[in-house]
Amino acid sequence: MLTNTKERKEKCVIIGSGPAGYTAAIYTSRADLEPLVIEGVQPGGQLTTTTDIDNFPGYPKGVNGNIMMDDLKEQSLRFGARCLPDLVTNVDFSVYPLLVNLSDGTEIKADSVILATGASARYLGLESEEKFKGSGVSACATCDGFFYKNTQVAVVGGGDTAAEESIYLSKLASKVFMIVREDYLMASRPMIKRLNKIENIEIFYEHTVKEVVGDLAVESILVNDNKNNKEIKLDVDGIFVAIGHKPNSDLFKSYIDLNEEGYVKTQPETSITNIPGVFACGDLKDPRYKQAITAAASGCKAAMDAEKFLSENNC
Ligand SMILES: Cc1cc2nc3c(=O)[nH]c(=O)nc-3n(C[C@H](O)[C@H](O)[C@H](O)COP(=O)(O)OP(=O)(O)OC[C@H]3O[C@@H](n4cnc5c(N)ncnc54)[C@H](O)[C@@H]3O)c2cc1C
Repeated sequence: MLTNTKERKEKCVIIGSGPAGYTAAIYTSRADLEPLVIEGVQPGGQLTTTTDIDNFPGYPKGVNGNIMMDDLKEQSLRFGARCLPDLVTNVDFSVYPLLVNLSDGTEIKADSVILATGASARYLGLESEEKFKGSGVSACATCDGFFYKNTQVAVVGGGDTAAEESIYLSKLASKVFMIVREDYLMASRPMIKRLNKIENIEIFYEHTVKEVVGDLAVESILVNDNKNNKEIKLDVDGIFVAIGHKPNSDLFKSYIDLNEEGYVKTQPETSITNIPGVFACGDLKDPRYKQAITAAASGCKAAMDAEKFLSENNC
């Protein structure tokens, strides 16, 4: 039972409750570390914003994102993990035990901390885009491309991610419109070469999306031709926004080494950060894969690294 004291001592605090955080909780609770999961403003993480997950092993018929995350949580509770619906507002990793502050004023002294705060996809910021998230607007072709077989789709962005998403979708969709703000692609040369060879990808340079249009789901997009200052309509069933992700690492940046995009740096093949006792997992440290299964796998690594650290330091 959790008490309301303003100070508490914990062996293992997990910040974040997506697939990475809950998997870390399953492993650390089975290792008797009695982890405390701080769930944040999005208990269950990004998957709670989507409907069908078809690519997480163990669900042959697919699973609703909320149900899957409830399952993961329940599994962690079974072994003694505790979950707190609160937000971490500050950390101090310059001292040991490590300090974690919550929005309700509680200060936690922690022997180990697992960072699992994820990364947020950047969107265009259009009202109509918000309306169709989950019913035509997506930020992940690997996750949702399957639903757009033999349809027309648009990809927004001109970097490597947008190029990769377009190439992936070109194998499923009948036509891919790439909407690029600049008059050039920022993607790497090999990627541009690959793109140019694919017949069903059409690139609209110097165009920006103005509106996503539809009734119950996306039916078209209105795009501005910035060079000629005119508007065109493209009939699409899906629009994939590929303008980057922002790792949720701001809280930790005074202490934890980050790469130039803000992802947490860890020692190769591990979750070990530059601060002893602090481990990172999931999308927060993964500029590349960003899948539920890869996040879960790295949550497992973080738990095992934390367990080893605690036993080596007699905590
Ligand atoms: C719409 C959509 C559909 C997707 N579909 C699929 C799919 O079909 N298959 C697939 O494999 N992947 C899919 N993904 C990707 C997948 O959701 C992510 O790769 C995965 O959720 C990353 O897990 P994570 O645990 O690293 O982070 P997240 O799931 O992002 O969880 C981050 C957690 O950190 C918490 N948090 C953040 N800041 C704080 C704070 N200050 N204090 C406390 N807690 C905090 C949040 O509340 C949240 O619980 C999809 C993503 C989206 C957005």
